[in-house]
Amino acid sequence: MRILYLVGDSRSGSTLLQHLLSLQPGVHALGELRRLGALSRASEPCACGAPLGECEFWCDVCGETPAEARTTERVPGGATWRALLLREAAAIRGGLIPAGSLFRAKAHAVAQECFRLYEAVAAKTGAELLIDNSKEPDHFLHMHASYPEHVAPVFLHRDGRGILWSKMRRTGKSASDAIQGYVWMQRLIETARRGVGLDKATELRYEDLCQDPRAELERLLKPYGVPVETTDLGQLPDVRHDIGGSPTFKGAEKREIRLDERWREALPADALAEFERRAGRLNRFRGYKD
Ligand SMILES: [Zn+2]
Repeated sequence: MRILYLVGDSRSGSTLLQHLLSLQPGVHALGELRRLGALSRASEPCACGAPLGECEFWCDVCGETPAEARTTERVPGGATWRALLLREAAAIRGGLIPAGSLFRAKAHAVAQECFRLYEAVAAKTGAELLIDNSKEPDHFLHMHASYPEHVAPVFLHRDGRGILWSKMRRTGKSASDAIQGYVWMQRLIETARRGVGLDKATELRYEDLCQDPRAELERLLKPYGVPVETTDLGQLPDVRHDIGGSPTFKGAEKREIRLDERWREALPADALAEFERRAGRLNRFRGYKD
């Protein structure tokens, strides 16, 4: 069993990528596994429509310890948490083993909890490759440090101006808050990329995925010996059990791969100017020039 862990900001096309991967043979997508505990406690629904605590698939996977009793992520706690994260990332980068003094016991317990769930899902579905769409660089680093032979990342990138516009539109955030969130997330992603070693960091750009989905999927899946059978999102089953994910994929409407670049027309000039000032350099570093 191997796990492809998608790392990236929200609104970066990770749900699209997860679904495309899940259409290939022997691949099963979990959604945002780290949120299983929290979403269950909040009685949020699984993609199948049932509340997570009542979904047959997850009840079966969780067995005697129900989803709501699972601790699948550490709750971020402000500046201290951020400082700890950076220190831990430095330790992981320095080759310290997860049980080392800087690797906190709680984080390892969370990684173990998630790994047990990976194993249960793999046993239930027969899948050899699981997709974890949890996205958080911090959570990923702990999974990778605890299970380096099993958990590999895909770092997902998208033009920051597209992320900004999508966040403003979907969440009603101010441009200023959305830009701050973007910058912080990019820093964490950089930390995680360096944590695994830049030569081992598999990257994917949302724009490239939309342009040539087959080529990009083949590149990602080649190391696992998984062929790309289809890129037709219409084949996605209506009853699925992935957790969280973009509302774009709720329900059974017709689905297609379409590059969303509405920000080019719709992003207000003052938001664009603020983005350029605070994050323009970062965005160009990711290869987004025009
Ligand atoms: Zn379900």
